[in-house]
Amino acid sequence: MRPFAYHRAASLEDALAAGAEPGAAYVAGGTNLIDLMKLQIMAPQRLVDLQDLPLAGVEETPEGGLEIGALVRNADLAADARVRRRYPALARALLAGASGQLRNRATTGGNLLQRTRCFYFYDPAKPCNKRAPGSGCSAIGGYNRIHAVLGASEACIATHPSDMAVALAALDAQVRIAAPQGRSRTLPIAELHRLPGERPDVETTLAPGELITGVVLPPPPAGAQRYRKVRDRASFAFALVSLGSVVEVAGGRVRSIRLAFGGLAHKPWRAAEAEDVLNGAPADEPTASAAADAALASARGRGDNDFKIPLAKRLLVRAVVQAAEEAAG
Ligand code: SF4
Repeated sequence: MRPFAYHRAASLEDALAAGAEPGAAYVAGGTNLIDLMKLQIMAPQRLVDLQDLPLAGVEETPEGGLEIGALVRNADLAADARVRRRYPALARALLAGASGQLRNRATTGGNLLQRTRCFYFYDPAKPCNKRAPGSGCSAIGGYNRIHAVLGASEACIATHPSDMAVALAALDAQVRIAAPQGRSRTLPIAELHRLPGERPDVETTLAPGELITGVVLPPPPAGAQRYRKVRDRASFAFALVSLGSVVEVAGGRVRSIRLAFGGLAHKPWRAAEAEDVLNGAPADEPTASAAADAALASARGRGDNDFKIPLAKRLLVRAVVQAAEEAAG
C-alpha cells in the first residue's frame, strides 16, 4: 500500500472541502476501496473519512417514501421494518449481496460506488483500460463469463457488481449529491452510472469532489416486488444475472411494470423496451417472452458469457408470470 494522508471529517462542509483537494478520496465502510489500495489499483493521496457525518438515518419523506442516509449500513437497511414491508425488492437485494460481515460494514453510498469485479481489473499484470487507460481490455478475447452483454464497448465489457443499485433502479430511486461551495443536486439513479464508451475509467456522472449524501425512495409502487439473483453459489457471490421487478397485474393485464437487470451491463440496466411491450398487455408467457426478446435484442455475448442472454430472458418471463399467478390468487 502506498502512503497516504488521513482526514476524519467533522462535518459535511469539512468533508467537501477536504474532498475537493487533488488526490483525495472519500472512505466510509472501506470494503472495496481498502482492498484496491492494498493492490495499488487505487492510490489516493488523502483519505477523507466520512464516518462521523450525520448521514446514518432512514427518515420518512413528506411524499410517503424514505430517505436513506449515505452512511446507513447495508445490514441495517435490510433489517429496517419499513424497508422490509414497503420495499421488499430492496431488502432482498441487500441480503443477496456480499456476506453478513461485509453488510455490517458496507454503506449505502459506498455500495453504489463499488467498482467492478472483473478479474483483470484486479490483476496489475494484465492490460485493463479501466485501471490503466489505453492499455487494452484483457476480457475481450479472454475469459469473460462474468462480463457484460448490454451497453459494452470495445474498450471495456465490465459489469457493475451492486445488487442494491439494481433494486433501486427498479424502484426509481433518486440520489442526493452534495458538492463544494454548498451546491447540491438530486439525480435519478439511472443517471448516476455511466456506460464504458471510450472512458471505462470514468464510472459515474459525479464531478470531482462531489459526495453522495443519501438515496430517496418514492412512495412504494403498486404491484409485486421481487429481486431474483442467479449466481455461481448460494451465498457471497456476485450476480451472473439478476432482476429487480415491480409488476402490477389486474384483470389478467399488466397495469404497470418496472424491470432492472444486474450482471448484464456497466450499470443497472432498466429494461425499457420490455416495459413498453408489457404495459397494458396480457400478463402471460407469450407476451412476456416477446418483451424479453425486445429487452435483449441488442445483447451481444463474448463467448463464455453467451448464457446470460437466455438466462436473463427466463428471469424476466418468470417475474411476469409469477406476478400474474399471484394476482389471480
Ligand atoms: Fe478492464 Fe473493463 Fe476489460 Fe475488465 S472488461 S479488463 S475492467 S477494460
